[in-house]
Amino acid sequence: AMVTRLGPSPTGFAHLGGVYVAMLDKDLARQTGGVYFVRVEDTDTARTVEGATAQFDAAFSYFGVTADETEQNGAYGPYTQSARERIYLSYAREFLRDGRAYLCFATKEELAAAADEQRAAKVPTGYHGRWALWRDAPAERVRAALAAGRPYVVRFRSPGEEAGRVTFTDLVRGELSADANRNDVVILKSSDNPTRLPTYHFAHVVDDHLMRVTHVIRGDEWLSSVPVHLQLFAAAGFEPVAYAHIAPLLKQDGSAKRKLSKRKDPEASVEFFIAAGYPAPAMLYYLRGLINGRLAELPLEQALREPLRLSEAGVSGALVDLVKLEDISADHIATMASPAVLDEVLAWADTHDTELAAAARAEPELAVRALDIERAGVDNPRKDLRKWSDFRPVYGYFFTALFEAVTDPADGRLGGLAPEVTRALCADFLAGYQDLTDGDAWFGQIRAAAAANGFASSPKEYKANKDAYPGSIREASQVIRVLLTGSTRSPGLHLVANALGEAETRRRVGAVLD
Ligand code: ATP
Ligand code: GLU
Repeated sequence: AMVTRLGPSPTGFAHLGGVYVAMLDKDLARQTGGVYFVRVEDTDTARTVEGATAQFDAAFSYFGVTADETEQNGAYGPYTQSARERIYLSYAREFLRDGRAYLCFATKEELAAAADEQRAAKVPTGYHGRWALWRDAPAERVRAALAAGRPYVVRFRSPGEEAGRVTFTDLVRGELSADANRNDVVILKSSDNPTRLPTYHFAHVVDDHLMRVTHVIRGDEWLSSVPVHLQLFAAAGFEPVAYAHIAPLLKQDGSAKRKLSKRKDPEASVEFFIAAGYPAPAMLYYLRGLINGRLAELPLEQALREPLRLSEAGVSGALVDLVKLEDISADHIATMASPAVLDEVLAWADTHDTELAAAARAEPELAVRALDIERAGVDNPRKDLRKWSDFRPVYGYFFTALFEAVTDPADGRLGGLAPEVTRALCADFLAGYQDLTDGDAWFGQIRAAAAANGFASSPKEYKANKDAYPGSIREASQVIRVLLTGSTRSPGLHLVANALGEAETRRRVGAVLD
């Protein structure tokens, strides 16, 4: 069984990359009857952002990657690093007691000077070799520094010059080898801080051991840290975890691809997708396809059930393509029945567009009739809904509370007809108006009103002799369209009118007559 964990740092919004990795974590645990949990990695206190953890929780539940084990039901907590301070301290003390670690009082200036010397000597920079300023300091000197109250960090005593090479297996990249670590990395941060916090390196090793993690799946920016981590596992006498390093999500930037970045790209944030209302199944389907290309070839339902495989994850990053995602999402929404779409729209709107939620809740049957129109696709085989936030621009005009009636017969959208012509056309249209469901019969009502007001019966006829007519049947229809929908584009007018019902159709067309 695999025990996996995600280690999000609450230093800003939840990164889409976090969900990407969490999907793998959760899926692999499920496949093997294991456990997946989230450990909040908040040891970088200076960068911790208020509310970030709550945002992670919201993101994980939206995407169905909630932890199997939490503070409430788990026996391996605390599940937040800042609450594990005493654990790190006690391990650091053990390391100090037998010389696996030591106190280092070097100042920033001394460290910078040592690095300069290393550069001048053309040796790798880092805290090692004769530049390890406190590694072998006499006990006297250490005691004096402590007595003087000088701040210190705790450093790991690396194997140094004897280190050689290290070989390990990465579950995505296969067998890898690298120079072993020779750097005396910091394991406890400065004693200056109000609390004694570990570095990520040390916390990772202590936590993943104590929390019985078997597999660490993380971004490949950590690949170069594996030699340090393996040394720390060995020094602590712990069995190391197995690693899988995942290539970053990429963004197309002009002709180049680069890492999807929190600072530059709104879509790096999970909140971006939640706020826009991309349905979770469509997103999961899309992201699973990015992890394992084979799943993108399967239908959604099946792709969501199939296991993810580390061995099939790409070594170069996957491109996040919003256009592709929107296509997937539109296809998914198109398979849903209208009442189910409405439920989802309302659930989304309750947090993201309360005005829409109220408007649609006031007229739920109208909402379903409206959704049925577009979906029947008789005149309009479009897939207009790509995400829930599209509902308002596409369907908003149906609802009394959102519709803005066109009342001025000189309104530009009506096509520039003389106001009295528009009025007469509408009056004739309404005189005998019936809510006919047969499209041709319904349009017959516009044709009759247009003929009575001297409109040409075809655009061609009108074009041939523009002075003879106020417009053609097309201009006449456009007047009715704008009055019914507030827009110059809409699905089939008879379908819109049928959905609105006779009274509302009369009210909207009649608005220019008052
Ligand atoms: P920046 O805007 O500085 O580039 P970032 O987007 O890299 O920031 P970080 O705070 O450095 O964000 O990383 C947060 C988490 O998101 C890390 O666990 C990291 O592995 C992951 N991560 C960052 N970028 C990506 C990416 N493009 N694809 C997948 N995961 C990523
Ligand atoms: N806190 C680390 C990060 O946000 C986690 C890395 C890991 O998963 O080991 O990148």
